[in-house]
Amino acid sequence: TIILGIETSCDETSAAVVVNGRQVLSNVISSQVDLHAEYGGVVPEIASRKHVELILPVIDNALKEAGVSLEEVDAVAVTYGPGLVGALLVGVAAAKALAFSLNKPLIRVNHIEGHIAANYITHPDLEPPYVCLVASGGHSHIVHIASYTEFRVLGRTRDDAAGEAFDKIARVLGLGYPGGPAIERAAKAGNPEAFRFPRVKFADAPYDFSFSGLKTAVINMVHQLQQKGEPLPVEDICASFQQAVADVLVEHTIGAAKELKTDTICIAGGVAANSLLREYMSKKAREEHIRVLYPQLKLCTDNAAMIASAGYYALKNGCTADWRLNAVPSLRIGESG
Ligand code: ATP
Ligand code: MG
Ligand code: FE
Repeated sequence: TIILGIETSCDETSAAVVVNGRQVLSNVISSQVDLHAEYGGVVPEIASRKHVELILPVIDNALKEAGVSLEEVDAVAVTYGPGLVGALLVGVAAAKALAFSLNKPLIRVNHIEGHIAANYITHPDLEPPYVCLVASGGHSHIVHIASYTEFRVLGRTRDDAAGEAFDKIARVLGLGYPGGPAIERAAKAGNPEAFRFPRVKFADAPYDFSFSGLKTAVINMVHQLQQKGEPLPVEDICASFQQAVADVLVEHTIGAAKELKTDTICIAGGVAANSLLREYMSKKAREEHIRVLYPQLKLCTDNAAMIASAGYYALKNGCTADWRLNAVPSLRIGESG
């Protein structure tokens, strides 16, 4: 089964051709990162306009690279939420037009479930059930994946997402956008124990996260040092911040995996690209005889191959959309099934 996947939820225009949910024939990603960098974050109106310009050439390139014609595509899968409404609509409109004109099924995909599916591509033997930490620019969830199409959220952030915290701290430190890779680079030369930043826990919800207190603690420290005219220990701040984020993400995820008695933890979303998180999660999980899997780097951040993979399993489960499909900017996980 050949699926054409389309992803336009934020600032990446992407199209991919994937066979049976696992074999990627092409995964074309056109990032607008440079365009938004000068504003220090994604500007929704600019993102939508750029998606309109790029969507058809990106789809053409994906088909060409895959050596697949439109007629050979069995179904079209598209992200319909969560994300920026104007950005999502570009992909949804393109997918509807293609599927309608080809008379092929249209599949709607939840972007976060797509991030999770990136693991199916990198790990051909991975099968549910397992526990997945999804940590991205807008979301931080611990999810139990009972089957390919059944998701239960065990914990979520009550305020900022992990990736959002990386982006905001990077901005305060003048490291630019996106913040994750910049902080990871600076942290390599820093001491993770230089500063003790808060790690928040909730008694009533052991798998929930909160990163706004951590963010504020870092920002306050930076401002105090700046007021005193002291030099900023950027590397130490980055290393200590990164360790604080990794500590809670790892502790909560392993706690959930142990409670559910699962032998596999997956990580997904842009923050899954972080090498400290990968190493620390693997180390701590090994002590509990749990294996940790994560997608190859390119599949951690937004891409259409993961959408095509999730779409394949939705199609197998008989979940297709009709021509009324609309973007749902605040779509929650587990709602599309
Ligand atoms: P969402 O998926 O929640 O809608 P998004 O699509 O913008 O948000 P992703 O593309 O999954 O998010 O990931 C982008 C986020 O990942 C950014 O916040 C970025 O800072 C973070 N990120 C990317 N690489 C790294 C890294 N190496 N370390 C930490 N964070 C990272
Ligand atoms: Mg992005
Ligand atoms: Fe994303």
